[in-house]
Amino acid sequence: MGAVPGDTPVALVTGGSRGIGRACALGLAEDGYDVVINYVGNRAAADAVAAGVVARQRRALVIQGDVGSEPDVLRMFGAVDGFGRLAVLVNNAGVVDVAARVDEMSLDRLTRMMRINVIGAFLCAREAVKRMSTRHGGQGGAIINIGSVAADLGSPAQYVDYAASKGAIDSMTIGLGREVATEGVRVNAVRPGLIKTDIHASGGIPDRVERLAGLVPMQRGGSAEEIADSVRWLASPKASYVVGSLITVSGGR
Ligand code: NAP
Repeated sequence: MGAVPGDTPVALVTGGSRGIGRACALGLAEDGYDVVINYVGNRAAADAVAAGVVARQRRALVIQGDVGSEPDVLRMFGAVDGFGRLAVLVNNAGVVDVAARVDEMSLDRLTRMMRINVIGAFLCAREAVKRMSTRHGGQGGAIINIGSVAADLGSPAQYVDYAASKGAIDSMTIGLGREVATEGVRVNAVRPGLIKTDIHASGGIPDRVERLAGLVPMQRGGSAEEIADSVRWLASPKASYVVGSLITVSGGR
């Protein structure tokens, strides 16, 4: 989709069809990247983001794929290779589940949570490093993982599994960031607080942001664009000395 193929650097946003990923995709297009928009089920939403990228004079590629599936991830990165040089990965795709105590959690629930939120982020980071790292002949790049303040809060009686999956993202950010620090790849994380997106409805509480806004020191939820602004900064040369950092964007929560 779109014109002007060339060697414009490419940003891949997993879960780029909605919410925080959508804001990142559109923001990175504004910053001059051609954008690959990954989604899992909502093709219409992904196409709308692609149209927004093209409206910003950049090329867009839409790719369906479950980040928790290795064949899907390999297929997705193969398509990225045919599109351009990967310079930025936003490891954003993530899920929650309905409120439950740990003593109620099934193996299926736990497996899904870790497969998408943790293994998915690892698989995508692995494929990105293979393309970006100077060790593999790449030209460098930036990986931005989307964590969560839930890693610190623990989310008791709601989704401790989700919080733990985001704790793993923090550790991966620190470890991988240090692992590839001399290879031209900067790995960092943005950790959102309470952000107005569809994710709360998928956890069974559509008005969660309004309900919990009073717990936020700033007394409000955040917007997806307020998260994307930090992602865009981490992707940019302005963050050239930032590696393995966890940037909390939560209104003080
Ligand atoms: P959202 O509005 O529910 O959007 C989720 C996005 O991820 C959609 O684009 C969805 O694609 C995609 N997706 C879901 N499962 C996927 C899979 N298995 N493979 C590929 N893509 C998948 O979520 P959001 O609130 O923007 O959250 C984005 C990230 O921010 C997540 O990692 C979340 O944990 C994190 N976060 C959010 C908040 C918050 O308050 N919103 C706070 C802290 C952290 P489809 O459109 O095709 O379904």
